[in-house]
Amino acid sequence: MKNYDLAIIGRGPVGLALAALAAQLQLKAVIIEKHRDLYALPRAGHVDHEIVRLFQSLGVADTMLADSYPTTEYVWVNAQRELLLEFDWGAKGISGYNSDYMQFQPVFEAALGEKLSSAETVDQKLGWEAQSLTEDADGVELQLARTKMVPGQVRPVATDEIETIRARFVVAADGSNSSVRRMLEIERDDFGFNEKWLVVDARKKRDFSLEFDCGQICDPKRPVTVLPLGKRHRRWEWALLPGEAAADLEKPEAAWKLLAEQNVFPDDVEIIRQLVYTFEARHAQRWSKGRVFLAGDAAHTTPPFMGQGMCSGLRDAKNLAWKLDLIVRGISEPSLLDTYEQERSPHTRDWTIISLEAGKVPCTLDPEEARRRDEKFRDGWMPPMPDFPKLVDGILASPETGSPAYLNGTLGLQAPVKKDGRIALFDEFYPSTRFVIVSTVSNPTSVLSKSQIDKLEAVGVWFVHVGAGQNGDVHDVEGSYVAYFRDNNIEAVVHRPDFYVFGASEKLTDLGALVDDLLNQLHLATDLYAPQAGSTHLAAIPHEDSTDAY
Ligand SMILES: Cc1cc2nc3c(=O)[nH]c(=O)nc-3n(C[C@H](O)[C@H](O)[C@H](O)COP(=O)(O)OP(=O)(O)OC[C@H]3O[C@@H](n4cnc5c(N)ncnc54)[C@H](O)[C@@H]3O)c2cc1C
Repeated sequence: MKNYDLAIIGRGPVGLALAALAAQLQLKAVIIEKHRDLYALPRAGHVDHEIVRLFQSLGVADTMLADSYPTTEYVWVNAQRELLLEFDWGAKGISGYNSDYMQFQPVFEAALGEKLSSAETVDQKLGWEAQSLTEDADGVELQLARTKMVPGQVRPVATDEIETIRARFVVAADGSNSSVRRMLEIERDDFGFNEKWLVVDARKKRDFSLEFDCGQICDPKRPVTVLPLGKRHRRWEWALLPGEAAADLEKPEAAWKLLAEQNVFPDDVEIIRQLVYTFEARHAQRWSKGRVFLAGDAAHTTPPFMGQGMCSGLRDAKNLAWKLDLIVRGISEPSLLDTYEQERSPHTRDWTIISLEAGKVPCTLDPEEARRRDEKFRDGWMPPMPDFPKLVDGILASPETGSPAYLNGTLGLQAPVKKDGRIALFDEFYPSTRFVIVSTVSNPTSVLSKSQIDKLEAVGVWFVHVGAGQNGDVHDVEGSYVAYFRDNNIEAVVHRPDFYVFGASEKLTDLGALVDDLLNQLHLATDLYAPQAGSTHLAAIPHEDSTDAY
């Protein structure tokens, strides 16, 4: 029986990204998917700058960006095409990219799939369905059944060819109907949003521009979403009206009639998918049981008005990956994974609430309500949207460290830097498989004790002095780091491997307290606290590619 550190169920975008992260971290993992091939059609169109940084870390950002659509605005208008809301997608995000992109999901999935096919430590069981899980003291036994396609059926069906594998940890990224979630008897909270929309995806037959290019037409007669999906595809979505049947809207003539209202005709596009989706908001009441963790749509579904469903799932993957890495390497106790739901659940809930609030704007079918809404907008009213979510709980600096609370849990800065004559984004030199401690004053190791440095090296940390001019391990070519540190009145910052700020120090000399706080929160294995002279324990942890400058 094969034995893995990690078994991932589902090769949707979330399972795929987690498998790619596991490969990067050299975790012994297996990904199980009941379909043999990657799904060739998109669901998610929108990704934000944080997700592009994640793709950058996996080496697929350039491929995704090459086919992404250079839209700079996401605009919501009323039936008379008066502006209601405008999102600036051209603004530079803190992660080193534009704030938002519209892309074609199969492009990055194919790139991730290709990376995975050459991964040495990750097996792929494609055409296999996870059917049952049994947990014992050391791990989980999974029973898999080979699947086959049967004429007339759209989904693969299980055969009686059975295989059993074991894993220390299981992540179920098996989608909103997650059978694992049901096996674990985990219920979901329903936020009470259930709207049916027809989604039509199309391949462009020729280049054309649309008067209304990217956004929501909040027309109570029938709300419409118009979106580019990368450079070669487009999407339209129409709300179903009361009494309309999904089957009628799924007929080709229904799509062409609606597309004609948008001045789009068969000479312009070829429809590649036409399906009625129910947009819903549901969150699992717990995200794990024992050694089994839910991620992506299995844990949370969100209406697509802010384009954050998959983005949230990809954040789950990154959060799980670095924690599993620390546990598998023996640095942290498995209890570190208790912080997964603690961190990810409130963050996803915040995005869901933003999406629900935003969704109320286009979804009204009542002309009188729409008229009142438009009037409120004309008077300067905005829907009550919370701020862009940050991590509010979990592994974040304690108040005693003096770290500015408003910075803890926000996304850390990535900007271009110069090293050895080459200019590139920071993570190209210091990959996000580790924590990063950055200072603009001097190398952070200059104020840390040997014991702190040893422990941080075991955990995996880059120590970087970003200097202005010719100082430092890397040079701040655009002045972004100097400005960020100055504006926040800090001299050092600690970034987690998932790009979030653990905490910051006003003075570099205060960094030691922040580091102790971090080490205290990483559920470190006890023997890490007492390395013996000559012990091979720390030396056994690979950090030979360190470029630390002390
Ligand atoms: C119309 C629409 C538009 C959207 N737009 C956006 C957007 O712009 N931005 C955004 O971020 N999100 C968007 N979303 C949401 C996004 O598509 C989902 O959040 C995302 O696809 C979820 O990915 P996942 O990997 O969690 O699950 P899925 O993509 O559902 O993948 C689950 C996988 O698990 C496999 N599986 C299930 N059970 C088993 C089993 N027992 N054994 C083996 N394999 C199994 C399935 O075959 C499937 O491949 C949109 C969704 C819709 C419907």
